[in-house]
Amino acid sequence: MYDVIIVGAGPTGIFCALELVKKSNLKVIVLERGSSIQKRFCPMREQGGECRRCHSCALISGWGGAGAFSDGKLTLSLDAGGRLTELLSPEVVRELLDYVEQIYLSFGNGGRLFDPSQDDIANFTLKAQRAGLKLVPMKIRHLGTENCYDILLEMENFLKNRVEIRPLSKVEEILVDNASGEVKGVKLASGEEILGRYVVVAPGRSGASWLEEQARRLGLSLERNPVDIGVRVELPAAVMEELTSVFYEAKLIYYSRSFDDRVRTFCMCPHGEVVVEWNEEEKVLSVNGHSYRSRETDKTNFAILVSTSFTEPFHEPNLYGSHVARLANMLSGAVIVQRLGDLINGRRSTYSRIIRGPIEPSLKEAVPGDLSFVLPFRYLQDIKEMLEALDKIAPGVYSPFTLLYGVEVKFYSSKLRLSPSLETEIRNLFAGGDGAGITRGLVQASISGIVIGREILKREGMQVS
Ligand SMILES: Cc1cc2nc3c(=O)[nH]c(=O)nc-3n(C[C@H](O)[C@H](O)[C@H](O)COP(=O)(O)OP(=O)(O)OC[C@H]3O[C@@H](n4cnc5c(N)ncnc54)[C@H](O)[C@@H]3O)c2cc1C
Repeated sequence: MYDVIIVGAGPTGIFCALELVKKSNLKVIVLERGSSIQKRFCPMREQGGECRRCHSCALISGWGGAGAFSDGKLTLSLDAGGRLTELLSPEVVRELLDYVEQIYLSFGNGGRLFDPSQDDIANFTLKAQRAGLKLVPMKIRHLGTENCYDILLEMENFLKNRVEIRPLSKVEEILVDNASGEVKGVKLASGEEILGRYVVVAPGRSGASWLEEQARRLGLSLERNPVDIGVRVELPAAVMEELTSVFYEAKLIYYSRSFDDRVRTFCMCPHGEVVVEWNEEEKVLSVNGHSYRSRETDKTNFAILVSTSFTEPFHEPNLYGSHVARLANMLSGAVIVQRLGDLINGRRSTYSRIIRGPIEPSLKEAVPGDLSFVLPFRYLQDIKEMLEALDKIAPGVYSPFTLLYGVEVKFYSSKLRLSPSLETEIRNLFAGGDGAGITRGLVQASISGIVIGREILKREGMQVS
């Protein structure tokens, strides 16, 4: 019998465990369906070639969760990376932002802090407004993909003598005691039952469908989140340098003239690389990006995403997103790359056209093709308008040689009904992070783990701060 069972070893699960061991001797077990961090092995990444569509994708599953090979951008702002301020007061979240940053720093190299000055913010805000864009300035700490990995490894080393960590242990069912209505443990895919007084579910985006299925089975209330669909843009790093040298990630929002859709830049990776991501739940390949601090390229990539909230009678935003991604997978075997000029001129890109241009795709597996066979007109129009607006503050964005990779889809989990201490409607069953639909980034996911850890400590009569 355990005191606390944590499902998922992403930032949410890890920070919950860190908070618990720091202030108590509770008996904690962390169950993770992927491998320990040193055994996380992606054949495509290590050996090249196509994505092997592994049963459990090592890029997003295992110790560290989706964050392990991420760009390691710590977004130190209330305005991005999640919706925790809908549940907690801004003061509490702000205090926890600092707390979480200090924990990351205490486990390794803190990379570089981008903290724009008031003059820079005023200057770029004006430029953005003139282009019809809204700039969301924020403080960002860029750890870099390799530092992020080292920090997570140190956290695993620190925790492994203090809590039980069980990799390759997929949780299949959340168990509830019918008599008391309280959570009582979990059942693994192997059939083994593990009992505990508190259960913390933190399965990330890759486990979101599983959590949704469990929520339905247990009668928990769910609310739909939108789906974000778009492309990853790749261009010479010099084009974005004025912005990225100040902000690292320039978060810009645009409302399209044609459809009044919300379009935004996301996950900017200066001097980075474009990568493929296998979503095992949705069974689709999509694009993403990251940057190594020690292996800079001469290119910058970022996503342009259009948010869509479907209305009655359609309730399956993720299904829609995976359908669009599947079209790109069907036509290219994986991911399509197209020059902006070819898209505008209504023709597919070819290898020979792409190599004539000044930008060599960083994602070698991407197949030149035509995104207009994949993305509905509405999305293409929104993306083109956003690129035109961006060109006004970063001349060169709307170049015919700019590369567009498709598609990038952000599948957001349905939002579980949670209390301010992130407890579900079942007593002692907590949920946090991306899988619970309340966060979308490393920092807020980590904060959600701390909030849960502190609530458990409080219920056990222990000091929390
Ligand atoms: C390529 C990439 C780059 C990114 N870059 C950034 C960035 O620079 N900055 C940023 O803030 N965010 C970034 N993100 C997002 C960030 O990684 C996530 O927001 C964060 O990891 C979410 O944390 P989490 O703990 O909620 O979930 P996750 O990190 O997804 O962890 C959940 C864990 O639970 C496990 N799991 C799932 N289901 C089960 C089950 N049934 N049983 C047992 N275990 C299970 C999974 O295997 C996984 O390891 C990036 C994501 C990706 C994919």
